[in-house]
Amino acid sequence: MKAGNNRPEVRLQGIAAAPGVARGPAYPLMRGMTIVACERVPDPEVEIRRLEVALGTTRVVISKLRDDVARKLNESEASIFDAHLLVLEDVALIDDVSKEIRRSGFNVEFCFQEVAQRYIEIFEKMDDDFLRERASDIRDVTGRVLDQLLGTEPERVGRAAQSHVVAAKDLTPSDTAGLHDGGVLAFVTEEGGRTSHSAIMARSLDVPAVVGVKGLMEAVQEGDIVLVDGESGLIILNPTAETVEGYRDKEQAIRNRRDRVMREVALPDLTSDGAAFELLANIGDPAEMEDALGYCARGVGLYRTENLYLRLDSWPSEEVQYEEYAAVIQQARGRPVTFRTLDLGGDKRLGDLADEANPFMGYRAVRLCLERPDVFRPQLRAIIRSAALGPVQVMFPMISGVEELRRAKEIFREVEAELACEGIRPAAPIRLGAMIEIPSAAAVADELAIEADFFSVGTNDLVQYLLAVDRGNQRVAALYDPCHPAVIRTLMQIFRAAQRRGIAVSVCGELGGDPLWAPLLVGLGVQELSMAPAALAEVRFVLRHSASVELSALAAAVVSSANAAQTRQLLQDFAAAKLKLR
Ligand code: PEP
Ligand code: MG
Repeated sequence: MKAGNNRPEVRLQGIAAAPGVARGPAYPLMRGMTIVACERVPDPEVEIRRLEVALGTTRVVISKLRDDVARKLNESEASIFDAHLLVLEDVALIDDVSKEIRRSGFNVEFCFQEVAQRYIEIFEKMDDDFLRERASDIRDVTGRVLDQLLGTEPERVGRAAQSHVVAAKDLTPSDTAGLHDGGVLAFVTEEGGRTSHSAIMARSLDVPAVVGVKGLMEAVQEGDIVLVDGESGLIILNPTAETVEGYRDKEQAIRNRRDRVMREVALPDLTSDGAAFELLANIGDPAEMEDALGYCARGVGLYRTENLYLRLDSWPSEEVQYEEYAAVIQQARGRPVTFRTLDLGGDKRLGDLADEANPFMGYRAVRLCLERPDVFRPQLRAIIRSAALGPVQVMFPMISGVEELRRAKEIFREVEAELACEGIRPAAPIRLGAMIEIPSAAAVADELAIEADFFSVGTNDLVQYLLAVDRGNQRVAALYDPCHPAVIRTLMQIFRAAQRRGIAVSVCGELGGDPLWAPLLVGLGVQELSMAPAALAEVRFVLRHSASVELSALAAAVVSSANAAQTRQLLQDFAAAKLKLR
């Protein structure tokens, strides 16, 4: 198929972020603040009537949305929209806009945006948490009213992008959080690296993705056909008939490989000589449980709880969190679920978190939680309450040292005791773990292993902090090299500390779900790997077709390898032999 636009074929190289090949029309996502022109109008009363109509239409849209959410999810999630409806009925806001139109003689769009922005800023500065949270409601609703006034469609990726290849400068986790029933064919982004959150999200959606494509947004146009090769990181705009034909073999080879590994997806987690390992799923939405179980995950090794916050774009109540966790545990039917406490910050921003110069090193994850009992305690209550329904573990993200872990555990135990007084107890004792993803935690892993019931190694962040390479920055993506000897040595140090203290250690960063890395990690003594559901089949296949001695020999060869290039070659050769790629 040739694009119907007669534009020439253009090839751009990026970073392969999620496997598979897809082809389809481009959906270029241009983002930016809506620019509202300021115009003098002949009749202010006409503008005020336009405001009333826009408010009425927005009310209908939100009520529909509310009913939809109540049907598909539940009443408590739907109640967010009640708050939105209240904003539309706020007499003070409507009065202020009308007065501004009459006073200035300017168009309603401009006056409405001015007044709304003023309200948002006032609420953002409130001391009271509840009132501060109202800022994001106002931002959301007033944005919708503005869309009505301007006759624009809000750019929400999910709907419009169905059966398209989404091309964007970058996709924030909140963009991708709402994509589950979006039917997107593939993603390409100009920014980002293999472990940026948009890439992780693409893998969890099980669609091909390429990130870090320099010059993408300048090259791509609506109407272009895009071929996305998530295996090699190549994207081809408007491929010629010959290119498409040439790809058929590759697509067939991918399908064959997929079929081969899927035939063994339900077999036990045992190496060819019978040594046990355990593969779990990384998810962040109850809807993903279906995939996790479909790929035979033995449980959830990482539940990214911040995704709920990002989906709602607001701080959820204890009740809303409880409902989500309970749904996951019920679907897991007795399999363990590991909840990671809130990991907001870095590139996972909520609208009302202040901007920071270095967000990845800033106010995020457990640092935020320890300072915000109003956020941390309701989350812990929700987790512990849901643990009455099945086995649960809890881990704290971004632990940098022993004191921080002790403090988090202390708060957890306080909340647990408080709930016990209310007669609420977990079905089984909740084990508390530390994520090891900061070099300082790796350095004191010996002491942390005394405090923690288990370690879960977050290699995505660990590599970024160890090598001082931003995991989402396309310009330094080549330096983000997990094969660096420093990474291998640090991982060994963490694993040894856990083994010496007899605590479990798992890897939940993207390396755990990489068929190149899984054999090495198991060879180094890791028993549990947690990954995007779609990665489970291939990793299980590679490990099941390996003998323990082969895995230890691979680990020994890597440990004594001279450099990153040699390590990479060892890993590639091992996986290729198991997957019979050569
Ligand atoms: C990690 O850092 O490896 C990890 C699993 O956490 P996240 O990717 O959510 O930061
Ligand atoms: Mg992390």
